[in-house]
Amino acid sequence: MSPDPLTPYGNRPMVTPIVNAVNYQYSSFEVLRQITDGEIDGYTYHRDDNPTVREVEHMVAALEGADDSVICTSGMAACTMVYLTYLSAGDHLIIFHDTYGANYKVSLILERLGVKITWMDADRACDIDKELRADTRMIFLETPSNPLCKVIDIRAIRNAAEKVGAMVVADNTFATPYHQNPLDLGAHLVIHSATKALGGHNDLMAGVIAGSKQHYEDLWFTRQAIGTTLDPHSAFLLARGIKTFELRAAAMSASAQAVAEYLQAHPRVPRIFYPGLPGDPGHEIASRQMQRGFGGMMAFDVGDTQEDAKEFIRNLKRIYHAVSLGSTESLICIPYLTTMLYLPPERRTIFGVRENTVRLSVGIEPTESIIEDLVQALASI
Ligand SMILES: *Cc1c(COP(=O)(O)O)cnc(C)c1O
Repeated sequence: MSPDPLTPYGNRPMVTPIVNAVNYQYSSFEVLRQITDGEIDGYTYHRDDNPTVREVEHMVAALEGADDSVICTSGMAACTMVYLTYLSAGDHLIIFHDTYGANYKVSLILERLGVKITWMDADRACDIDKELRADTRMIFLETPSNPLCKVIDIRAIRNAAEKVGAMVVADNTFATPYHQNPLDLGAHLVIHSATKALGGHNDLMAGVIAGSKQHYEDLWFTRQAIGTTLDPHSAFLLARGIKTFELRAAAMSASAQAVAEYLQAHPRVPRIFYPGLPGDPGHEIASRQMQRGFGGMMAFDVGDTQEDAKEFIRNLKRIYHAVSLGSTESLICIPYLTTMLYLPPERRTIFGVRENTVRLSVGIEPTESIIEDLVQALASI
């Protein structure tokens, strides 16, 4: 046999090769038949599968302790693929207000297609039994949540879901798989916006759904049908990001704990939300279901008004005023003016966010320099 041009004489490249092919030459009609009959996996067309993407799917599945994972073009593509794969007209979906804002937009489409939706506040998660119905098919949650880092007991939600046979889906983007593995806590599926901490460098957009072999097949069918397959270059960048992911996650979490402890005592910070603080309402559950720290995300109020929060952000020298999270640089934004613009104005504040609430994603800069920047900017308001 002639040597494989990618791995001549079996010497594998140390990095994931970027396979930019849309289609693949069939080695024989017999191989074509085996592929079409499902006897073997073979690459045929990019919308079906791509070897660079496939390698990253195995990496992410390992991080989440899943059988397998499906990677797609963005975190929202991942959420939407889950809804489209598992919900039908007449089904009931329970989703928390405290989930990524764009889920609200997708919910409008789902309602048009006949899905019945109940929105719950994460603070009321322990009352989920009251919202369960015989037709409840899915419970969709985020913990810690965006942006107020509220904590939901995944095991308790799963126990409730069992009563009606509903599926539990956890968006684990804020926690990251370094700190929390929802599948071990009873979730059926775990979702990531890999655009965030898994990629980690603000240079790629991707989404992940991890679960059982059966889930992989269900979701693969949807992706193949609708064409949300990730491009190989982004998959390569994601593989590269994942190599340093655990180091970055550890650094972010350690700094975030120190930053939160500092801010908690600051007179110009009236409220702070970080599950690593012993006084935080989510601390007890988070201590049970998170490991190795509480992640790099927090939210806090600055001064008294939206103008105070704006002035504080204008005065930051090192922390970037930008959306997104989980990247090497520390990022800060006012959710009311950015990530929550998706929501009608009255929905932006009903679950606890205020106009002077800021969301901070702690990066991997030295902890002292992050605290120093926050201190000097707070001194000005
Ligand atoms: C960013 C984000 C998403 C959406 O991901 P995209 O890659 O931007 O589509 C979903 N959930 C959470 C928690 C997020 O932070």
